[in-house]
Amino acid sequence: MATMSAARLHEIGTVFSVDQIERPQPRPTDVLVQVKACGVIPNMKNVIAHYAEWFPYLPLPPLPAIYGLDAAGEVVEVGSHVRGVSVGDRVYVNPGIGCGSCHMCRRGQHINCDAYTFMGYFGFGERSKQVFIDYPYAGFAEYMTAPALALVKLPESVSYEAGARFGYLGTAYSALRKAGTCAGTSVIISGATGTLGLGAVLLALAMGATKVFGVARNKELLERVRLLDPKRVHVLSAGDRPLDEWVRENTDGLGADIFIDAVGPGAPSESSLAGINALRRGGRMVNIGGMSEPLPLEMFRLMCFQISVIGSLWFDVAEGQDMAEMCDAGTLDLSVLEHQSFPLSQIEEALDAVDKRSGGFTNVVIAHG
Ligand SMILES: [Zn+2]
Repeated sequence: MATMSAARLHEIGTVFSVDQIERPQPRPTDVLVQVKACGVIPNMKNVIAHYAEWFPYLPLPPLPAIYGLDAAGEVVEVGSHVRGVSVGDRVYVNPGIGCGSCHMCRRGQHINCDAYTFMGYFGFGERSKQVFIDYPYAGFAEYMTAPALALVKLPESVSYEAGARFGYLGTAYSALRKAGTCAGTSVIISGATGTLGLGAVLLALAMGATKVFGVARNKELLERVRLLDPKRVHVLSAGDRPLDEWVRENTDGLGADIFIDAVGPGAPSESSLAGINALRRGGRMVNIGGMSEPLPLEMFRLMCFQISVIGSLWFDVAEGQDMAEMCDAGTLDLSVLEHQSFPLSQIEEALDAVDKRSGGFTNVVIAHG
């Protein structure tokens, strides 16, 4: 029997134990990926420790569970029905999968499937429980199975460590697309120095936005964000002055086209309202930070000003592939990321390192051998 190392959680509230378990076999439409790097994301500790209590309607993988959301690696085996993916392909595994055959999956909208599930993280509906049984593997293990449909092929120019960041990058990319970001648009990004926010800045620049308004608290990190493109990136330290006044001053009084709200849970609703107030008529706000406070919205004003407020969860494989192409073409530059790698045996240290990271510039990953 071929075995592999996998960091597994045996009980909520305890630490991971690195166990030797059987290496899985891919089913006909799956592949087996040898994981090279897996992102250790800021929200992972919350999911493991608190989601069962905070969000009882979001199913967790059954214990003992392998976690690990953003895996990148090499395909080492393909199922008998897999045609377009070969052994040796470098891939990012998009962990968000649907059931594959319901009404929404058949319409190509896996993300709107009521069994939508993040492998190695948590699910969104009762039917996610079956997905966890079908796909119990994830990035904190040496190998994982994944549907061929979930793979983003990575060119040589994208390192596995950078690939392991595709989850939070893709979340920002999909939000920017839903809001209509293109050449000539202006985009406000709150939480611009964080893991999600920095990704939104990099992608807004890559997509041709001509004005990016980054808002955050840490002035030193904000300056690093500004230096990404001093001509296009403008920064404001949160609270220094009213956001709408500053944005209008820099947009000929119009307001911004788009507001990406990337501040994490726990932020006051005022920061989101300030961003909405800084939009022009017809502007769009997309929340990706997971704000936990209720948002008191004046619908009459949104109606009169034609302002849209959009929820966006994640991104699909096509969007992941776009990002891979953008990296290869050099339009998306991920060289600012500082990778901090830990072996699987130091997974607890890696989780601690995420708390001490230097904003979104630090990319903490588990690197397998
Ligand atoms: Zn489905």
